[in-house]
Amino acid sequence: MVKEMKPFRLASRETKNEDTIVRVTGPRESINIGEGYCTVIAGPCAVENRDDYVTLAQFLAKSGAHLLRGGLFKPRTSPYSFRGLGKEGLEIMKDARAATGLPIITEVMDVRDLDHLVGEVDILQVGSRNMQNYALLDELGQVGTPILLKRGFSATIEEWLLAAEYILAQGNPQVILCERGIRTFEPYTRNTVDIGAVALIKKLSHLPVLVDPSHATGKWDMVIPVAKAAVAAGADGVMVEVHQDPDQALSDGKQSLTRDNFIKMVDQISRLADLENKKINTR
Ligand code: PEP
Ligand code: MN
Repeated sequence: MVKEMKPFRLASRETKNEDTIVRVTGPRESINIGEGYCTVIAGPCAVENRDDYVTLAQFLAKSGAHLLRGGLFKPRTSPYSFRGLGKEGLEIMKDARAATGLPIITEVMDVRDLDHLVGEVDILQVGSRNMQNYALLDELGQVGTPILLKRGFSATIEEWLLAAEYILAQGNPQVILCERGIRTFEPYTRNTVDIGAVALIKKLSHLPVLVDPSHATGKWDMVIPVAKAAVAAGADGVMVEVHQDPDQALSDGKQSLTRDNFIKMVDQISRLADLENKKINTR
């Protein structure tokens, strides 16, 4: 019998069995994302102002984060909601990068923004809403920056891996997958987190996979349990939203951890990472 190849050829273990480790070059040191490492990406949903962002970044750097997140171009359901500081916010993120030595990640929503972002940020994020923006994926396949590809909120695992394939097929092998929950009939949480997807992806693909328990649940008090479940299921790390004062956040305050809860999360997932034989401190 002839064995049929998976449609996501380059992302598949049939083509490359060995795990991909994505190397992210930071301002001082490089960090590894993938097999053997448990990576923590943290920061607010959106960059709101310089003082708060840089102060929070300094706290996160000393409390176990390996990468700083911050939205500049925010995909918001309502056009009247805060949509991010755009290019102006990039300078703030670069200052936080210099102040902490941590690499930075932000979402790119439009190919036209690549000109400002490529060479300036250490990972480019494709958000859930853009997972099937094939023009964007094609362009991202031609940059030398690692890409974090979030799962579309109604994408199957195969559609998600085929989206990764677009980037790989254009010649960029540095793709990190990120499960962020899918839309189901359940209204009590913002999304339904698919932890099983982590274990399945690990079988199907050599690419690193992270979980974002913040967008997956929409509730700050579910972030730590789901982060723990992610690491226990074999995820290569988590991406979480943290805010200095969640009640005052301009976006996603309800799912943002306080600083104290971030410390608690790192402590708890570190122990699970240990059980999984993963190094939590990649710096
Ligand atoms: C984000 O991480 O900032 C974000 C908007 O997430 P998602 O694309 O998963 O909704
Ligand atoms: Mn958010």
